[in-house]
Amino acid sequence: MHSFLISALRSTTFRLFACLFCCFSAGLFAQPADLPPLQRIDPPFWWVGMNNPNVEVLLYGKNIAQATVTAEYAGVKILKRETTENPNYLFLTLAISPKAKPGNITFHIRKGADAIFRTMPLLARQKGLKEAQGFSQADAVYMLMPDRFSNGDPSNDVVAGFSDGMHRDSLNLRHGGDLQGIINHLDYIRDLGMTAVWCTPLIENNMDKYSYHGYAFTDFYAIDKRFGTNTDYRRYVDSCHKRGLKVIQDIVLNHMGDNNYLAKDPPSPAWINDFSTAKASTNWKKEFRRPNYRTSTHSDPYASDYDKRGMTERWFDWMMPDFNGNDPHLATYLIQNTIWWIEFAGLDGLRVDTYPYPAKEFSTKWAKAIFAEYPRLGMFGEVWITESVGMSSYWQAGVKNKDGFASALPAITDFPLNAALGAAFSEKEEWGSGMIKIYNTLAQDFLYADATKNVIFLDNHDLTRYLSAVGDDVRKLKMALTLLMTLRGTPQIYYGTEIGMTGIKDPDPLVRKDFPGGWQGDNANAFTPQGRTEKQNEIFNHLRTLGAWRKTKAVVHSGKLMQFVPSDGIYAYFRYNANETVMVVANNNDTESTVKTERFTERIKGFTKARNVLTGEVITSIGNLTIPAKTALVLELQK
Ligand code: CA
Repeated sequence: MHSFLISALRSTTFRLFACLFCCFSAGLFAQPADLPPLQRIDPPFWWVGMNNPNVEVLLYGKNIAQATVTAEYAGVKILKRETTENPNYLFLTLAISPKAKPGNITFHIRKGADAIFRTMPLLARQKGLKEAQGFSQADAVYMLMPDRFSNGDPSNDVVAGFSDGMHRDSLNLRHGGDLQGIINHLDYIRDLGMTAVWCTPLIENNMDKYSYHGYAFTDFYAIDKRFGTNTDYRRYVDSCHKRGLKVIQDIVLNHMGDNNYLAKDPPSPAWINDFSTAKASTNWKKEFRRPNYRTSTHSDPYASDYDKRGMTERWFDWMMPDFNGNDPHLATYLIQNTIWWIEFAGLDGLRVDTYPYPAKEFSTKWAKAIFAEYPRLGMFGEVWITESVGMSSYWQAGVKNKDGFASALPAITDFPLNAALGAAFSEKEEWGSGMIKIYNTLAQDFLYADATKNVIFLDNHDLTRYLSAVGDDVRKLKMALTLLMTLRGTPQIYYGTEIGMTGIKDPDPLVRKDFPGGWQGDNANAFTPQGRTEKQNEIFNHLRTLGAWRKTKAVVHSGKLMQFVPSDGIYAYFRYNANETVMVVANNNDTESTVKTERFTERIKGFTKARNVLTGEVITSIGNLTIPAKTALVLELQK
């Protein structure tokens, strides 16, 4: 190995490349001094029989671009060999015949008289994993932050080589939650009526600080050791599947952590947006350029290029170098990485972080490539636009945008509905306030290709917890949960909302508190009925009743929706199909109200009775309904 390095250093070509590379890497990204001849092969293994028979393998090592590389394996050919400005990278496109046998591809890497060998396993696809299950309106998604949910394995709390500290009293340090903690509570999640789990990223974030949130990947192919191993991740997926829970993985395409080797020693300046500004600055942590965070610039017919680039080409934060997905090697790297996780772990769906922040040509190419391999996979993107349904629907596949943009993203996070559900129950019922905001948001569903695919939610890791947003009024939270579980779309519940956890998003970690009972020695264990307070059980049982009911209700999974304009503080809507009709009626007044149901005749005609889903009570006459203050009823209509 050593002589390999020396011979490489003697190479004139290397000196030329090294010089060129130093020109752009000076300052921000320093080349590692002691890089071995082959440090990484990404992806670390691949499969026979993929829809796309080609895979682009990235080889990373000192002057690897100067070496001759051959691959010896029956059924595997090197189609293409490409290098970039950085001599430490070599890209090989392999063609894998569907007839190739699983085994180890051996790369022979030669430089003069020196040679090294490295293998890359070629695996058979796992039986039964070919078809991801996807998700739909029939599902309910439980979302959690692994570091803050439960610590099932204290032995991985502190891991050598990971510098970000662990201290439960600190908002920003790690708290020790992990995969085993999640596995330990999958029965709890299932019991709540949930059918899918979305964890914020579990991928390695070996960052100096703030690593607990997980959105700064430092190794795209590894689970963070403080959460567990890649094998533990697969065990987690299997544990979910055994319980009938689907698995949604959080994907980040916009940026990486600056401790990633791809950031410290990038293959090319073209991989990272705004690279020249960052490297030229002597005080780049202060002078790096943030995005304008104006997602509207994408769909704005009048937007300037200046503002558009201000959205997609700046760094989300100083420790997160921003990817330029227009670079073909980077695009392939990210596409293959996603496919690798789906195939390795057997995922059912993806949640894509900051979907409008990369160049949209890239994210569309990425999504199409993923669906070419897994047509049934579920996918939704974080499209954080509260102001406008039109600017949200712009991102949904199937919408015909005037500017010609055709998204490949099937589903979006429904922020407009989130805003409406957040405001409605705390506002006075007037012409433009209160529940009319929900009505009017849904009235714009014509802008979506299919609004039933939207992921709907009351809160998440970036938002003030719902109960805090409505002034700690449990009645309002229960009303909102009732609507969430019965409106169109796939409901997503943020961990702890089911027990009324509170927190105002200032700063973020206040909405990411530890789940009580997730750690040995916690004062109370809210995972059990005995460990919950009366108030916690009230909220939990409310959601659990709705969850259990919703699981079996085709009328909520695929039924139509009809809503009636709110009037006198009463808002009613119906989910219905040929066999069933469900009426949801909310009283947003501060007093009990009796509602004459005559105006709903077109939906209730032929029905005389109703079963109150939340109480089990049978209402023998539905001509008048008495509804307590700040309450929503779910009624199964009966003849
Ligand atoms: Ca732990």
